[in-house]
Amino acid sequence: MSRILEKSNRQFEKANSQLPLGVTSNFRYWGEDKTIYVARGKGARIWDLDDNEYIDYRLGYGPAILGYAHEEVDEAARAGMEIGGVFALATEREFSVAERISRMVPAAELVRFSNSGTEAVMAALRLARAHTGKECHVMVEGGYHGVFSEVLWGVDLDDWDPTQGEPEFGPESGGIPSMLKDLVHIVPLNDANRLEELFKREGDNIAAFIIEPILGNCCSITAEQGYLKDVRMLCDKYNVVLIIDEVKTGFRVAKGGVQELMGVKADLCTFAKAVANGYPISVVAGREDIMRQVGNGVIHGGTYTAHSLALAAAEKTLQIIEETSVLEDINNFGVSLQDGISKILNKRGIAHSYVGHPSMGGLFFHENSPTNYRDWVKTNHAFYEALAPELHDVGVLVEPDSREPWFISAAHDEQCLNDTLNRFEQAVDLTLQKTPDINQNTSQ
Ligand code: PLP
Repeated sequence: MSRILEKSNRQFEKANSQLPLGVTSNFRYWGEDKTIYVARGKGARIWDLDDNEYIDYRLGYGPAILGYAHEEVDEAARAGMEIGGVFALATEREFSVAERISRMVPAAELVRFSNSGTEAVMAALRLARAHTGKECHVMVEGGYHGVFSEVLWGVDLDDWDPTQGEPEFGPESGGIPSMLKDLVHIVPLNDANRLEELFKREGDNIAAFIIEPILGNCCSITAEQGYLKDVRMLCDKYNVVLIIDEVKTGFRVAKGGVQELMGVKADLCTFAKAVANGYPISVVAGREDIMRQVGNGVIHGGTYTAHSLALAAAEKTLQIIEETSVLEDINNFGVSLQDGISKILNKRGIAHSYVGHPSMGGLFFHENSPTNYRDWVKTNHAFYEALAPELHDVGVLVEPDSREPWFISAAHDEQCLNDTLNRFEQAVDLTLQKTPDINQNTSQ
């Protein structure tokens, strides 16, 4: 079976004449004949312009934690809009939402709202520089922190040959000033010795270490608990601000995010996706002495910050997450999904493993789960890349790139589970029929 994407294809031609790549985020472009245009979403499912239905495991890269078109959240947002939008003045609700966030995340002593994950991370880095008087920052290989120039740096592993030494590190977009390279350092995950060597050498210039302890943009490869302990200790020792980027993990992997899950406390932390079930709002939060740099020379703001619509949606979403068992339900669904997928793959002798948290798990075609981005090269990602289009054809929406985890929402129910597993089985068999050799090159 192959999906018909006639209307999406026609829309692409039209849209491409007006918008570069026919979309508003590069990651939404999947090729001229594969780019999907959405008609609507409800719960855990979306429908495209051709009325193809998909069970969605992308969830807009995470935000729709309660499911699309959630009635209570949308109702709250509509009521929030009646307040009037933005005024270049504050409203009462900012305090009550900030108070709830501080209760849920102990590291969030003080809170400021922004609009996107990118903006929250920009603010965190600026605060770290102002607090320490230093300018450089350290990131982790495979980490992603948004679309601004200081963080769009990474190692290129697509063409990396591990026998030829360290991978190249460079800008991930055109238009990034090369002079920024002097500000950026990148280290592999789970190697505290490498981090300490860097801090010893460059600590006087390093303002911040920014990390997603579950790499939400790299298959959810996860930091080891001991590593995070060392990171915390090293940041304290070298006066480096520890920024935990919880844009994907926040209010998802636990009520108190990855910090609660792993027992680590950030100096600054950032949140976005799950905060308001898809309404545009983000959070930068952290230690009072650092956050008070705002008002002490550091600028933070923006015309649309704490918009009454998004803020009301955040209030309702966080209330549901804090006061009900939705995160447990999401976790349980994730576990059942992984169990079901494993049965299907084991029956066919396909080596695989999972990493991350069941609410945002990474699926790897290799018997050992990776401990850093470099391990991803050893996995059979070619099999994943061949499987993903088959999954799309049968109505399971996952990212075509194997480096994106599978996101679960509270709307993924028993019916979704059964439908997904039936469809997954079909897709695996289709992949094996079309490319019988692709399951052979599992490891190196
Ligand atoms: N930080 C992390 C960990 C992210 O996953 C993302 C986006 O995926 C961002 C920051 C940037 O967020 P936004 O796309 O809202 O700007």
